[in-house]
Amino acid sequence: MTSTFGSAASRQVIIELTTAGYEAVFVGGAVRDAELGKKPLDIDIATSATPHQVKEVFRHTIDIGIEHGTILVLMHGEPIEVTTYRTESTYSDQCHPEIYVNSLKEDLQRRDFTINALAMTVDGELIDLFNGLKDLKQKIIRSVGNPEERFREDPLRIFRALRFSSVLDFEIESETLHSMKNLAPSLRHVAIERIKTEMDKLFLGKNPSRAFHYGRQIGLPELFPELLAAFDTLDRYTPFLHARHGFAAMLAVTDTDAANLSRQFKLSNEEKRFLKQFEEAFALRVHHVLGPWEFYSYSTDVLEVVEKVYHVNHEQNELTTKQIEQYKEQLPIRSRTDLAFTGNDLLKWSDKSGGKWTSDWIKKIERAIVFGRIENDAQAIKDWFINEITREK
Ligand code: ATP
Ligand code: MG
Repeated sequence: MTSTFGSAASRQVIIELTTAGYEAVFVGGAVRDAELGKKPLDIDIATSATPHQVKEVFRHTIDIGIEHGTILVLMHGEPIEVTTYRTESTYSDQCHPEIYVNSLKEDLQRRDFTINALAMTVDGELIDLFNGLKDLKQKIIRSVGNPEERFREDPLRIFRALRFSSVLDFEIESETLHSMKNLAPSLRHVAIERIKTEMDKLFLGKNPSRAFHYGRQIGLPELFPELLAAFDTLDRYTPFLHARHGFAAMLAVTDTDAANLSRQFKLSNEEKRFLKQFEEAFALRVHHVLGPWEFYSYSTDVLEVVEKVYHVNHEQNELTTKQIEQYKEQLPIRSRTDLAFTGNDLLKWSDKSGGKWTSDWIKKIERAIVFGRIENDAQAIKDWFINEITREK
């Protein structure tokens, strides 16, 4: 590694902290990713300064996670997270106060895996107190210290190990895996939001199959039959998994429904909407190939996943994204706002007053237009409509 680690702003933060007499280093995922030759997403800095002292050193700070010892420093407009050295404390038990410590060693010791316990000085010197670099090179996920104790302190780490095995495509060291299996039942007490965050990353990883394999080995399907039975079959879907797609695939392989899954995993509104749409469109796809109505009613994004999930179990070729878009382009209209008539026109043409019948007829005409049975032209619609209602009388 060279001294060019981190952004100029993050280096400046370290320099100012050290000038003020404190220790400060880069830590965590960013150091790991840099060693792997990947561009780190978020940069974390650990320091011997207390949050109060950090705030004294910098003019612009925000207390984002002060209860965990984290202060956001705004350096040249760039937000940099600075966290005070601390020991293991409250990952799982939010009731206890944070315990700040003076040594970097203690801070690194409370981190989950050796590959996440690396630190780097502003000069680019790696601080590797737990053989993290060796594990990184050998592609191994290993707990820092006694795995049993570490998973007991925070069972979420069991899921984090699975997540890293997928994201990095790493092996889980045998003693670590063994303890994961012993303590897997304690995952039941972990807030689902925390698990969900890890699941999203797991789905997006390099090798989700690997994580599902470990998940089965440690007994997750038995522990969470309603949530994770999917671990048994999901790896057939891994070539195309995507955070949201993972949940869509789960829907297709379990008995649960979208509303249930959304509730259980506390999905966001956007994710919920996607899953609901997927569920509807998938149910239609099971009955017949996608037709004009489906191309009209569902977004490319939804249809794409429907096709992929459906074709995992069926031989024919699935539609590509491009083909889905081409079908959509051929539709006479793209949405209801394109219709060449309104509900008011129906009232005028029929000489009747409004009511539920209007929306029923709008739907009927919309459908007829989408299927190409009527042209999307006011006169054509009027003729068709008058003809139909006269026939109905
Ligand atoms: P990502 O690239 O997804 O951000 P990351 O390793 O940075 O991965 P974060 O969740 O951002 O993961 O956590 C930052 C660091 O904090 C980790 O690298 C690890 O050192 C430590 N950490 C996070 N969660 C835990 C935990 N539950 N137990 C112990 N250490 C943790
Ligand atoms: Mg991170």
